[in-house]
Amino acid sequence: MKNLTSIQPNTSRHARLAELKQSFQDWNNTSDVMPQMARRLSTTLSLETQLAILAEEMAAIVPFDALNYRHRIARQDFVFSTGMGGPHRCEYRLSLEGHQYGTLALHRRQRFTEEELTGVEMMLSGVICHIRNACRFIAIEQAALTDSLTGIGNKRALDEDLHRASALAERHGAAWSLILCDLDHFKMVNDTHGHVVGDHILARTAEKLEQALRNSDSVYRFGGEEFAVLLPHTNEHEARDVADRLRAAIESIRVDGGETPLTVTASCGVAVRLSDEQPEQWLARSDEALYRAKSAGRNCTRVFASIS
Ligand code: GH3
Ligand code: MG
Ligand code: MG
Repeated sequence: MKNLTSIQPNTSRHARLAELKQSFQDWNNTSDVMPQMARRLSTTLSLETQLAILAEEMAAIVPFDALNYRHRIARQDFVFSTGMGGPHRCEYRLSLEGHQYGTLALHRRQRFTEEELTGVEMMLSGVICHIRNACRFIAIEQAALTDSLTGIGNKRALDEDLHRASALAERHGAAWSLILCDLDHFKMVNDTHGHVVGDHILARTAEKLEQALRNSDSVYRFGGEEFAVLLPHTNEHEARDVADRLRAAIESIRVDGGETPLTVTASCGVAVRLSDEQPEQWLARSDEALYRAKSAGRNCTRVFASIS
């Protein structure tokens, strides 16, 4: 069964909700589900926790085998799944006041009855405001970790991820590498071509870095013309190769700069995390390697060797 319904926003939402509640109560005597669910949902702004609560409360009224929720929030896919699917499905696009808040689907082995679908619709109409708030919360949190010029992670995101990577490396013993990448003579680019051109190059650099990396790698702008790349499961040799590939990607950027296209180069410093090392020390060693690359004449990569 396929049933795609859009939960309608607008002024008639309350009237629709009352109507749904009435027909739901005619069918199901458990009349107090909504207040209880609303109470539980209002205790958290975590979308994941809210969906777990919704799944639990809904399953008591309309049994299902699987619930899947999907929504793209702030350039990232948020996915929540519980259970294993069956051949019958009802799917709802959640929207409120013209904004989309994801798609929720229920799966099970038996068909859903009309009464059950009414019940599901009632519950979703009743929780949509909570889901919207949780989605907004994720978007706000994401904005605080995003560099507004380039759309990649900012210094705060790097700090958080360096701590997380350090904890993971301690627990699993896997190799993690950090690359710092600084554009060469960028002040001159700004002075010669202006800040707007400089900003454009920074945005293009972020794009190129993202394209040149694997999905599991993360890229950040953590200073004016300085970028950082965090690489899981990557040793010193591999990280050096990645750094050289990133420099080549940056060098391939062409920007209209009058008679000849404008190009930029970058210097890279690489450090593999040492065991028991604090994130600040790891960052400082990458910075030292970058300093050596600059001292060696720029447009090159230097590695802070883990074995001297
Ligand atoms: P080096 O090769 O030693 O790194 O030289 P550099 O000129 O790149 O380094 P320096 O630290 O002297 O200058 C960095 C310049 O980066 C200064 C500023 O003009 C530029 N910059 C920093 N942030 C931004 C920004 O947000 N937009 C633009 N357009 N330029 C920026
Ligand atoms: Mg520079
Ligand atoms: Mg710099």
